[in-house]
This record gives sequence, C-alpha cells and structure tokens, in this order.
Amino acid sequence: MQNCSGDIGLIGLAVMGQNLILNMNDHGYTVVAFNRTVSKVHHFLENEAKAESIQDLCAKLKRPRKIMLLVKAGQAVDDFIKQIIPFLEKGKFYFGKILIVVGDIIIDGGNSHFPDSVRRTKELEAQGFLFVGAGVSGGEEGARYGPSLMPGGSPAAWPHLQKLFQDISAKTSSGEPCCDWVGEGGSGHYVKMVHNGIEYGDMQIISEAYLILKDVVGLTADEMGDILDEWNKGELNSFLIEITRDILKFKDTDGVPLVEKIRDCAGQKGTGKWTAVSALDNGMPVTLIGEAVFARCLSAIKEERITASTILNGPKGLRFSGDKKSFIEDIRMAVFAAKIISYAQGFMLLREAAKSEGWHLNYGGIALMWRGGCIIRRLGIVFLGDITKAFQTNPNLTNLLLDPFFSRAVLRCTPSFRRVVSQSLLLGVPIPCLASALTFFDGYRTAKGGANILQAQRDYFGAHTYEVPLIDTHNDFPMKVFY
Ligand code: NAP
Repeated sequence: MQNCSGDIGLIGLAVMGQNLILNMNDHGYTVVAFNRTVSKVHHFLENEAKAESIQDLCAKLKRPRKIMLLVKAGQAVDDFIKQIIPFLEKGKFYFGKILIVVGDIIIDGGNSHFPDSVRRTKELEAQGFLFVGAGVSGGEEGARYGPSLMPGGSPAAWPHLQKLFQDISAKTSSGEPCCDWVGEGGSGHYVKMVHNGIEYGDMQIISEAYLILKDVVGLTADEMGDILDEWNKGELNSFLIEITRDILKFKDTDGVPLVEKIRDCAGQKGTGKWTAVSALDNGMPVTLIGEAVFARCLSAIKEERITASTILNGPKGLRFSGDKKSFIEDIRMAVFAAKIISYAQGFMLLREAAKSEGWHLNYGGIALMWRGGCIIRRLGIVFLGDITKAFQTNPNLTNLLLDPFFSRAVLRCTPSFRRVVSQSLLLGVPIPCLASALTFFDGYRTAKGGANILQAQRDYFGAHTYEVPLIDTHNDFPMKVFY
C-alpha cells in the first residue's frame, strides 16, 4: 500500500471494529487498521491496509487524517488519543474572536459517556485537532450492513466525514441515510444515550404487557406470541415486538416455552441509568425510563422478593373476568400510548440538555437516525417516521404530546390505557412503566395541580416563599405576588 492512501484509520479490532471495516470496504473505502494486541491486525487483515504501530497508521492516511476508535469506552479512549496526537497535524487560527480548527480528526465510535466527549472535544480543539463522538447503534449486524450513526463534536469535522458516514449507515425504505450531524460537544453520545434509555423503556413496556396478558388475561406463551404477531402488523411494528413474538414461540427441547424457564432477573450495562441521572440533573420528568431502570433493579433482588412473597399478602392469581378480546385490544392501545409518552419524555430531555449544554439539535433528524433502516429498526419505523414529520412540520414543537398527530393518537388510547392500568393494579400486577406513564400524562395535562401544598409546606418550615397569582384562572397569571 502507498503511503497516505488510506481513507480512514480504525483502531480496535473487536466485533464492532471488524464489521465496520468490512462495511467501509464494501463501499469502496480503504481502511488502515490497528489494534492494541497487534497479532489481531495480522489475523484479521490479509492485505497491506494493516498498521504495525500508531505511527505507521498515521503515516498511511490521507490528509486531513481521520482516525476512528472502536475500543472499550473510558480510559482506553484517552490512552489512545494521547498516543495518536504526536503523529497528527494540528491547525488553528482565530477569525476575529472565533477559534477555527483545521487539524486532523479523531472519532470515538464507542459507547462513551457524553461528559467525556464534551471534555475531549474541548481539549482536542484547544490543541488544534477536531473531535467527533459518534453514537453507533445496531450492534454487530448494524456495523456490518448499516448502523444508525449519531455523530457530534467539532462541526468543522462533518464535511470531511459526511459522505463516508452516510454511505456506510443504514438507510430508510426511501433511501435516506440514518445518519446526520447531531450537534456540538458530546451531543452525539448524548443522543445515543437517550436512544438506549428509550429502548430500556420500550423493553419494560413490552414486559409489562406480557405480564398482564399472562397473569391478568391468563394466556399461554403461544397465544401471546400470536397476539404480538398481530400487533407487529400495525402501529406497534418494531424489532422489539418482533423478537418478543419469536421468544414467546420458542420451545425448549422438552417442548416447554423457554421463556417460562428463564429467571426473572434483568441485568443492565448503564446507559439507562445515565439517561435517568441526566433527567434528574436537568430537572426533566423522564419517569418512564427511570421506572424502567428501577424495574430492572427490583428484578435483580430476586431472593428478597421470594422472601417478601411469603410475608406480604395481596391480590394473587385473580383473573380478568370481562370481555378478553376487547381487553387485549385495550392492552395494545396502552402499550402504544405509553410508547408515545416515553418518546415525548425523551425529547423533553434532549431539548433541556441542548439548552443547558448550548447544543443546536435537529430533532426530526434524530428520529430519522433512530429509524436505523430495515436492519435495526429497533424502535419502530412507522412510529419514528411520524416523529420526524412532527418536528419537520413544527421545528419549535415544545412537546411531542402537543403535536396534532400524537395528541390525537394518545387521546384515542387513554380510555383503554386507564382500564388496563386500573385493572392490573386492582389485581396486584406490577406495571411501573405503564402506571407512571399514565400518571405523567395526567400531570402534564393538569393546569392546576397539588404543588401549592408543597410550596406552602416549604415556606412553612423553610421560608422558601410562595406566589399568589392575582388572577387565578388555569392559564392566565398576569401578576405574581411574592410573600
Ligand atoms: P469491546 O469488547 O468493547 O472492546 C475491545 C477492544 O478494545 C479491543 O480492540 C481491545 O484491544 C480494546 N481495548 C480494551 N481495553 C483496552 C485498553 N485498556 N487499552 C487499549 N485498548 C483496549 O469491543 P466492541 O464490542 O467491538 O465495542 C467497541 C466499542 O463500541 C465499545 O465502546 C462498545 O461499548 C461500543 N459498542 C459496542 C456494541 C456491540 O454490540 N458490541 C454496539 C454499539 C457500541 P485488545 O484486542 O488488545 O484487547
């Protein structure tokens, strides 16, 4: 291989790195690869696009150099950045008071926590390099055939990356790439984090629907599989509904549905928790994702739950006695309404974070990126398309629930939603996400709630003051008096 002919350098030859290289090769890009354990480079690559060292990698790249890291998130990313920098070209100048950076580009495609990407962007730009933190979604298959890519960081890097990123990304059915520039600083990794948080929510909503179908309606795994198959043909169509249908239908060697044998304890890697923590930091009521994380925590204390089940009595084994067919349709609508509310909360968080971090986010574009084409489509193609439309119609939309399409959709579902939540609670079936979504919805649509008591209590014991509007209608507070 000639020096300086590599389109991009890639460091990290585990599952994601290897598959992204194959994807880039399919699209005609020459990728020069390196890995901490150098033997893996020789093992994976037979051609001369391999690098023996970081210096070798940097020497083989076109200018400006683009180097993508796909290594374990955390210290490994900082360590590699430190090692790469001596072999890169930096460039910066001031245009008036504005710093213009024109140096080489480092891209972190791992699951980094967004504050790290905020810091790395600042540190690298100050030295004259460009940095991009790119969320990559879709796992191994996505990396190989088309991931959803969410790049953010130094905006000046985007013109150099746009073609390559959009070429290798998933495409929607109309051919649009599931990749666009997200925004400044750590916004790429932030958007990926919220995407994962929403996925936590969707998974928990489906598991609650499963529990209701099983314990309230009394269906078998096969019957539930048939119902999810039907749901997947309509507005709930998504990868998660599809795989849950397959899971319910899957039999162990003895003919028993395997799902019934799996211990009800869920693990987690942390992106849901990061989303919930960020929601608290930003003062945003992202209740559904928070409950989804707590539901996994509760599931994990299995031994304690077994003990509690012998001490704490409550409704148990009771079944719904009404019209099952119409109740199953109620459950479908409850799932749909909860999903809308979850996305509305996710976008509330994105908006607030953008405000506090100074990012300029393109919300319609974000939903488009999450569609992930026909390969991942984890969150539902039709649904995400409707979100894109809502933000394209009104880029200043304050809340998805106020968009005419989504407000009509959620209002159509609420009678069913109320029946499902109240019935499940009466029968003692735990449904934290469905119940909190409905409660959030009622709180959000309530012009006058109960926080007057809270504020009076705060003032009573802590002299925190309170406001008394002179005209106390639901919406119109022309004057505030402080006491
Ligand atoms: P991984 O298992 O997360 O990491 C393995 C890679 O990181 C190897 O190249 C390894 O080098 C390198 N590495 C680990 N510790 C290191 C250290 N201290 N210093 C230098 N290099 C180190 O790989 P992956 O599953 O392909 O994921 C890559 C990144 O993408 C991660 O951030 C991951 O969270 C993210 N991601 C993964 C998926 C997925 O489905 N797997 C999906 C989306 C995003 P050696 O070979 O020398 O050990």
